Amino acid sequence: MIDPFGREVTYLRVSVTDRCDLRCVYCMAEDMVFLPKRDLLTLEELDRLCSTFVDLGVRKLRLTGGEPLVRRDVMSLIESLARHLKTGALDELTLTTNGTQLAKFADRLANAGVKRINVSLDTLNPDTFRKITRWGDLDKVLAGLEAAKKAGLAIKINTVAMRDANEHDINDMVSWCGDQGFDLTFIETMPLGDIDGDRTEQYMPLSIVRANLQKEWTLEDTDYQTGGPARYTVCKETGQRVGFITPMTHNFCESCNRVRLTCTGTLYMCLGQDDAADLRTPLRQSESNEPLIAAIHESIERKPKGHDFIIDRRNNRPAVSRHMSVTGG
Ligand code: SAM
Ligand code: SF4
Repeated sequence: MIDPFGREVTYLRVSVTDRCDLRCVYCMAEDMVFLPKRDLLTLEELDRLCSTFVDLGVRKLRLTGGEPLVRRDVMSLIESLARHLKTGALDELTLTTNGTQLAKFADRLANAGVKRINVSLDTLNPDTFRKITRWGDLDKVLAGLEAAKKAGLAIKINTVAMRDANEHDINDMVSWCGDQGFDLTFIETMPLGDIDGDRTEQYMPLSIVRANLQKEWTLEDTDYQTGGPARYTVCKETGQRVGFITPMTHNFCESCNRVRLTCTGTLYMCLGQDDAADLRTPLRQSESNEPLIAAIHESIERKPKGHDFIIDRRNNRPAVSRHMSVTGG
């Protein structure tokens, strides 16, 4: 699958549910209305869709959400998709999770062939954690991380940098990730969906985060790439990677290799644009995958060059109206 700008699409991110057990302030409104369960693709349909993408050249699959581990029986989907790892068709099967369910699932994930996971964690302070997630329990996430480590999963922590909320915790995050052997990536808040709050208040450019970190740590630039939008440094004192995802201050679209599928079978060719393709209809239209494959090819032809996010006081509306939890972060 090659798009009109010559980029090969080899990475599919799948939001397996828009639901979540937390309500992070940058991600969701407190009283989120979730999709009716009847609109969701079944796990079998998700498997068929993902497997078709693998047949068409996808080498990396990431399950996300919402919180992927709160979807009932999601492990059966993961264990089934793992067959593509065994055949060599897929290089990596992974997930992004808030970690609350990891104590329960870490062993099964590792046994299925998952090698590394991204865990979102914005602070190590229990009170701040509760404020950011609106009701989360930090201990549950730390226990989940411990279980994941024990199961042998490599862990990368994702931290959304927010002005005031956690800007004073970032040194602790670097130090703790160093002790734990976790890589760490900082993310800027992106204007996705209504959230009950003012994004200009939350937004913290990573140029400032990096400048503050460099007062304490030696961050050496590296060429390390995961095919994603992060630019990585190595922290000399801890030996761990510290990455920066800067959608707002640095446009990373030129090397974009990914598309995103929602739990209702809608394919977004760009996180920051509204254009989408309905894959549920061709999926259900026939037992043959022909109509689905044609719809996928047609959508890749429409993959846009990039996003045009902007957060400023004049433009205090989300760039796209859907939440990250729908498209899959
Ligand atoms: N629930 C899982 C989790 O939190 O890791 C997976 C889904 S979550 C939507 C994926 C990632 O998106 C998380 O790291 C979260 O911090 C990030 N995220 C959510 N909303 C965001 C926003 N508006 N701007 C930047 N990152 C966001
Ligand atoms: Fe849930 Fe992840 Fe969004 Fe937080 S960032 S509300 S954990 S989906």
